[in-house]
Amino acid sequence: MKVIIVGGVAGGASCAARLRRLDEKAEILMVERGPYVSYANCGLPYHIGGVIEKESSLLVSSEAMLRAFFAIDVRTNCEAMRVSPDKKTVDLRNVATGEVTTESYDKLVLSPGAVTVRPPLPGIDLPGIFQVRTVPDARAIREWIERGSLFLAGMHKYSGFQTVKPKTRAVVIGGGFIGLETAENLIHRGFEVTLVEMLDQVLAPLDREMARIVESYVKRHGLRLALNDGVSGFKQAANESLEVQTKSGKVYPADIVILSLGVRPDTALAKTAGLEIGERGGIRVDEHMRTSNPDIFAVGDAIEVKDFVTGRWSLIALAGPANRQGRIAADVIAGRDSRFRGTLGTSIIGLFGAAAAWTGASEKTLIRIGDKDFEKIYLYPNSHAGYYPGARPIAMKVLFRKSDGRLLGAQALGEDGVDKRISALAMAIQMGATIYDLEESELCYAPQFGSAKDPVNFAGMIAAGVLRGDMPIRHWDEAGEGFLLDVREAFELAVEEAPGAVNIPMGQLRGRLNELPRDREILVICRSGGRAYYATRMLLQTGFKARTLSGGMLSRTHAATFWES
Ligand SMILES: Cc1cc2nc3c(=O)[nH]c(=O)nc-3n(C[C@H](O)[C@H](O)[C@H](O)COP(=O)(O)OP(=O)(O)OC[C@H]3O[C@@H](n4cnc5c(N)ncnc54)[C@H](O)[C@@H]3O)c2cc1C
Repeated sequence: MKVIIVGGVAGGASCAARLRRLDEKAEILMVERGPYVSYANCGLPYHIGGVIEKESSLLVSSEAMLRAFFAIDVRTNCEAMRVSPDKKTVDLRNVATGEVTTESYDKLVLSPGAVTVRPPLPGIDLPGIFQVRTVPDARAIREWIERGSLFLAGMHKYSGFQTVKPKTRAVVIGGGFIGLETAENLIHRGFEVTLVEMLDQVLAPLDREMARIVESYVKRHGLRLALNDGVSGFKQAANESLEVQTKSGKVYPADIVILSLGVRPDTALAKTAGLEIGERGGIRVDEHMRTSNPDIFAVGDAIEVKDFVTGRWSLIALAGPANRQGRIAADVIAGRDSRFRGTLGTSIIGLFGAAAAWTGASEKTLIRIGDKDFEKIYLYPNSHAGYYPGARPIAMKVLFRKSDGRLLGAQALGEDGVDKRISALAMAIQMGATIYDLEESELCYAPQFGSAKDPVNFAGMIAAGVLRGDMPIRHWDEAGEGFLLDVREAFELAVEEAPGAVNIPMGQLRGRLNELPRDREILVICRSGGRAYYATRMLLQTGFKARTLSGGMLSRTHAATFWES
């Protein structure tokens, strides 16, 4: 059996290596248009920033290693031009010489990845405007920075003999994870960075109120954000520097511009094969990664996948799914019944020592698809036991089904312990877990790592309390009347008041119940929801109608206050 694999990075290389492990006799030809196979594109922003100093560190395995270990016929600088499904052939072009050859296949796997969105804006091809997709892209950025434009290099004369080196300026366009990671790395390299984003938030998969926390954090670390503004064009300015013009009429001077406007599936080759393209613009595959042609498979950023939670088609450009899909395609080609179970879009981004991570459905996705059977909670547990040094709060939002408690999604932000909580919740969602399972889940604990009630348990306990009716909740963004009761201590009000609330500290509440109305619903608030829950329980058991405001003052204003804690 002869298998041709197009694309030699995440999905393609995993497929090739797995196939060899399953079938020693298969003839495997892997073609890659670029100069490298199996490189770590996820590390590119950190190479630009100098965290990963050597370019060679990005090359996870080499052409020579894939030949020696797996007997794969690897051809770099080799572009697959056209597929002829009736003849079962692929035309290949040697990028260096232009020579075209034709190879036949029994099975073909497409893993061509995605193409960077590059709108035809005036001046977009000017020198100094880069994208971050490949090793040569990162090299070009580093060379531009190291060589320095005239402006970057210039020591400007000042009062005769003194000189000043002006601050160098970068503009990053697009607030997705590649844009933000690159922005952070440019700040580490001493740039003054402005990030321009057309949406009214960074990190589009996050719900807006959670993105606000990220925005306030990155701003505190020196990143300037220009949200709600799209780029309209670029102009050459003096000294090789550029001007970035936006739709609102603003102009941002820049010594370097990074385009990070997102990606779309690369379907060029699939179209030559007449393969079905789905509603989101990716190659349509079944759960075995088979395209509309039974001898052609497709994996990675180029395909559409079923969203694990919503069951809808979606585009998820992530390395983990691409790797797993490559493995599954290899399994199926080798005769195994492996299936891809869909994607949750589980992601994490590190920013200035903190992390933002998410998995499953967001609130805005559920609203967009008209799903009303969900509830949300906010919580702010410590990353580990508060008495052990270094504990940091994690801002968490958890979404679950109202009708049966099934976990739907989670988002978390903080300076410690975010990754393991979202990984645990992602696994729980994939296992079809409910919030009741989270209550019961047994997780590792010692004071430096977690708490006897881990944030994951806590999320389950709070959510289960809501569904069991033990803790009716209300959200700040829900309309409705109520008597607002603030159970925080007086000194906390000096920091931040809850407008219109009556303050009775938790410790005094039992003795002052006569100050509360029995004919109105009481909305109880504290800083993060814990004391409000205790108060709500007491009020419910003494004949009052009460609800907790989920997340307390932190969820009302957490963008401004969460990171100060
Ligand atoms: C800067 C950056 C940072 C990232 N960070 C993360 C991260 O932190 N976490 C995460 O999960 N994901 C991250 N990703 C996304 C992740 O890298 C991709 O989802 C993953 O690589 C997709 O794998 P793939 O095989 O589909 O495509 P790719 O890995 O992009 O490989 C496709 C390859 O196919 C080649 N190709 C295309 N067409 C042809 C053709 N006709 N002939 C021959 N070769 C062809 C291309 O040259 C390319 O090398 C990042 C991506 C980038 C660019």
